[in-house]
Amino acid sequence: MDTRYQVIIVGGGPVGVALAVDLGLRGIRCALVERRLESPRIPKGQNLTQRSMEHFHAWGVADAVRAARLLPPSYPMSGIIAYGDLASRYWYAPPLREIVNAYYFQENERLPQYRTEQVLRKRMAELRNVDARFGWTAQAIAQDERGVRVTVAPDGGAPHVLEADYAVGCDGGHSLVREQIGIARSGSDFNQLMVLALFRSRELHEKLNRFPPRSTYRVLHPDLEGYWQFLGRVDVGESWFFHSPVPADTTRDNYDFHALLQEAVGFPFACAFDHVGFWDLRISVAQQYQVGRAFIAGDAAHSHPPYGAYGLNNGLDDVANLGWKIAATLAGWGGDALLATYTEERRPIFTETAEDFIEAGIRRDKEFMARYSPERDRDEFERAWKEHADTAAPRVLTYEPHYEGSSIIFGPPNGTSSAHGSHTFKARAGHHLPPQRLSSGKNVFEELGRDFTLLAFDVDDRAVTGFEDAARPLGVPLTVVRDTYAEGRTAYEAKLMLVRPDRYVAWLGDAVPTDPAAVVRKAIGRG
Ligand SMILES: Cc1cc2nc3c(=O)[nH]c(=O)nc-3n(C[C@H](O)[C@H](O)[C@H](O)COP(=O)(O)OP(=O)(O)OC[C@H]3O[C@@H](n4cnc5c(N)ncnc54)[C@H](O)[C@@H]3O)c2cc1C
Repeated sequence: MDTRYQVIIVGGGPVGVALAVDLGLRGIRCALVERRLESPRIPKGQNLTQRSMEHFHAWGVADAVRAARLLPPSYPMSGIIAYGDLASRYWYAPPLREIVNAYYFQENERLPQYRTEQVLRKRMAELRNVDARFGWTAQAIAQDERGVRVTVAPDGGAPHVLEADYAVGCDGGHSLVREQIGIARSGSDFNQLMVLALFRSRELHEKLNRFPPRSTYRVLHPDLEGYWQFLGRVDVGESWFFHSPVPADTTRDNYDFHALLQEAVGFPFACAFDHVGFWDLRISVAQQYQVGRAFIAGDAAHSHPPYGAYGLNNGLDDVANLGWKIAATLAGWGGDALLATYTEERRPIFTETAEDFIEAGIRRDKEFMARYSPERDRDEFERAWKEHADTAAPRVLTYEPHYEGSSIIFGPPNGTSSAHGSHTFKARAGHHLPPQRLSSGKNVFEELGRDFTLLAFDVDDRAVTGFEDAARPLGVPLTVVRDTYAEGRTAYEAKLMLVRPDRYVAWLGDAVPTDPAAVVRKAIGRG
């Protein structure tokens, strides 16, 4: 059995398998080690952002992911937010992530994570350079300047040592890789136990007909200090999941979950439970995402409650950021500084996501519930509730992770990498490339290369050859997309854009820079 690889991925949840697909498509020989044979059928990780769907498009599975959804096509993905319970007169149905669809090449999607994982696993199985070992557990990891060694064992079998140039721990919140390479975490522990119940109830489906069709139902109750009771559809008509804070000593056997559910919805209904599990409301971020030749990604690097659906989506963004950097380094064109930019670019995004979007949301709701009450002052409450409703969607517009401050981006002076941003069709260095139609009728995303792409709109040949001549001796694969600077493309407000493999703009301008080689060198970490 061959035991030498370029990359060993520990953990075959959605993030590990996505990384195997990304690296596999880049021609990297990797091993993926996953202790479970099947993904648990828990419908978590359902809300997929537009960015995640763009990654799926790049990995050739966007259509398969959409075909695996359980809700009917175009069934609204956003939710209802209610005060007190779902029988309340105070509720609203805000548009959420769909309001930024136009700024991405793919629309957001909703399906249970285990269905997404099935699609990814199928794609991975098509890649001959990926050696997937399901039912194998990683027991230890060691590294030196030449490579990494991961001790793995099949269920009940003898251990083997696998060797590689790099290893990536995609092994979830309790990451062995993170612990063994010595990365500490910081974050907030809310000391709050949560229940996750899966149940079936047609009656609930029918009784919620008072609302417009929606996928999720969030209850804000004054006693819950800003934590939500959260009901969601797994399909339309029958299957549901339910999260709620519960007392710390709750077990499956000492608590009436049916009564809790009925309190949350505000009326009696019959249901049959399929699963009751628990999770701790905790947010943690690793201090760094790399030590030497070992990296961490996904929940191993940052874990969080399912508030706002940042978990899986952030993990997939980690993959898109790290995959090309490892592949470029292995291919020899990635510079010495390239791999360190993974922590540099990704960590601030999650730190701010945790503090400013997840924790701030919990705090905001806690303060709201403490301050306003329809029993105490109805007029004041109704004014505040309207504001609660009016500010939900605008906040979505401000979540736009970008790398303006990255050392391999030509961002603005004093730019910082941040989860806070804005949505626009203007191209900006350090930001996601907005989609645009080319004169061929295709979207620019359909023409981007797997590595770097130069978008050249109505520029003279010297501009293009300047970049080609710069990229060639450095070994950087460069796809050139030429078109006119007309129609929607003028919204970019730039005629030349150097787009990274993860579809972020590294550099832009209207004319060839004085030293295109310096631009390319910086973008690949050789600056
Ligand atoms: C109830 C719930 C709802 C959620 N909803 C959303 C949502 O709507 N949107 C969203 O973006 N996120 C959501 N999340 C978060 C999302 O599910 C996680 O962020 C996601 O699963 C992270 O994927 P991962 O691959 O990093 O880690 P995991 O899914 O934890 O996978 C890690 C894998 O590593 C394997 N492993 C661990 N140790 C070893 C070892 N030593 N050897 C071999 N294998 C090992 C494990 O078996 C596991 O398969 C939700 C989470 C929960 C709990």
